[in-house]
Amino acid sequence: MDYEQLLDRAFEQLPNLAEEKVDFKIPQADSLIQGNKTLLRNISQIADTARRGKDEIAKYLTKELAAPVTVEGNTLTILTKVPASTLNEKIHRYFELYIICKECHKPDTHVQVVDRGYTTIVCEACGAKYTVKNS
Ligand SMILES: [Zn+2]
Repeated sequence: MDYEQLLDRAFEQLPNLAEEKVDFKIPQADSLIQGNKTLLRNISQIADTARRGKDEIAKYLTKELAAPVTVEGNTLTILTKVPASTLNEKIHRYFELYIICKECHKPDTHVQVVDRGYTTIVCEACGAKYTVKNS
């Protein structure tokens, strides 16, 4: 078993705290490494679940993975090899930072302002408002 597989296994065994609190599932990345590229084949589903634009998620992944990202239809293409475990970790982090309310843990938030490296998130369920430092 190589390091990558160990990482995959470790990630699978992590308890998902967000899922335990609410009946909300962070979507799993349906990814495929093809040559030097990584295809994320369910970006539409992820964007729909997050209720955010695909472009916003693409922008986040570009920064997090330090690689160019393009979106075409249901497929987001990352111009580097990214293991599924890493991609899932990034998507999880995105949901935890920008989608799931810090107060009530519901995914009913929207972005109010993006300013000087900070994003202000407003929760439609409980009215909480907080600022997240952009990565
Ligand atoms: Zn809330």
